[in-house]
Amino acid sequence: MVHRFEGSFTQQEPIPEAAVDAATEVLRHGRLHRYNLAEREVGEASLLERDFAAFTGARYVLATTSGGYALATALRAHGVRPGDAVLSNAFTLAPVPGAIASVGARVVFVETTESLTIDFVHLDEMAEKSGARVLMLSHMRGHQPDMDRVMHIARDRGFVVIEDCAHTMGGSWRGVVSGRHGGSACYSTQTYKHINSGEGGFLATDDPDVAARATLLSGSYMLYERHGAGPNTDVFEDMRNSTPNISGRMDNLRAAILRPQLAALPERVRRWAGLHDAMEDGLRDLRGLSLIERHQDLMRVGSSFQFRLPDHEANEIENLVERCARRGVELKWFGAARAHGFTSTYRHWAYADAPELPQTDQVMAGLLDMRLPLTFSRGDCETIAGIIREEVTGMRG
Ligand SMILES: *Cc1c(COP(=O)(O)O)cnc(C)c1O
Repeated sequence: MVHRFEGSFTQQEPIPEAAVDAATEVLRHGRLHRYNLAEREVGEASLLERDFAAFTGARYVLATTSGGYALATALRAHGVRPGDAVLSNAFTLAPVPGAIASVGARVVFVETTESLTIDFVHLDEMAEKSGARVLMLSHMRGHQPDMDRVMHIARDRGFVVIEDCAHTMGGSWRGVVSGRHGGSACYSTQTYKHINSGEGGFLATDDPDVAARATLLSGSYMLYERHGAGPNTDVFEDMRNSTPNISGRMDNLRAAILRPQLAALPERVRRWAGLHDAMEDGLRDLRGLSLIERHQDLMRVGSSFQFRLPDHEANEIENLVERCARRGVELKWFGAARAHGFTSTYRHWAYADAPELPQTDQVMAGLLDMRLPLTFSRGDCETIAGIIREEVTGMRG
């Protein structure tokens, strides 16, 4: 058995040559701002929006500076006002409650199941109690709930769903691309997501009013007719003077880097599935360790891997994380008392109301997480799973 894994959990693949060439071309002509165009030129940012609209099937796409910016913009574009209640699943990343806080709204957290998806009974209850008009549904770590049930509750209770697809870009539910169920969907192109421009994001929607408002919000000045996948200019007429500019535009350099990567995304998703399968195969049927159940209709993107140790005490899990780290296996634990790096839970977000969510607490207490960058091979995943298997087997209890 290999004693130590030597790979890096944070090393993504290099930017493909085609993307380097496209970026170099933008640098050479110098028109980096999306509205800085030569005569009859369609800039890379607009082309990227068209590509992403074609990829998802969304009618309208706005490219933005970050995924978090897209989330906050979606809330504003859907009319969320300061003081409004916004539902969200408690298992998510800090940019989600952050986006809700940034518009002055109140997050209403909903319980998480052992499958790491939103609890439908609690969602229905909290929707009724809070009267929220919006659910920001985060498909955290690629775990997507039964979207038919979500949309049924949404229709019943009269709320709009904004999907956070930072971890599901390239995935689908019952053959429908992730992000196509709700009123809007937001994606991230930050380095640790599925296509990499350092920072960046998308807002996708079929609603022309939401798309127009989001475009004006992003700081389009009055140049919105230059967008690649935006609504007709007449949609903007009623709102162009009343919508504030909160700049968050994508630039042509990042867009150029992203377009070849978007074309390669289906192939990346296939490779991630191979890595994720290798992890599951390596850890199946291990006493005390639960794999996360996945709905058969979900095609998830395996860019990260989670498992649960439901029967162990906090100090035992801390020890496990330490022992794995000494062997080069970087596990993140959602049950830690303090937020560490990217890993935090709703209890750490003191700016949001921290309700009692006993079910979520119980799930988080035993939840472990790791990245699966595409620089890993299946053999690497077998090695990592072997190390975790040995260390879990050695735990007390
Ligand atoms: C990364 C991420 C976002 C958006 O992040 P940005 O860094 O702002 O692009 C939103 N939700 C989740 C779950 C994420 O992981």
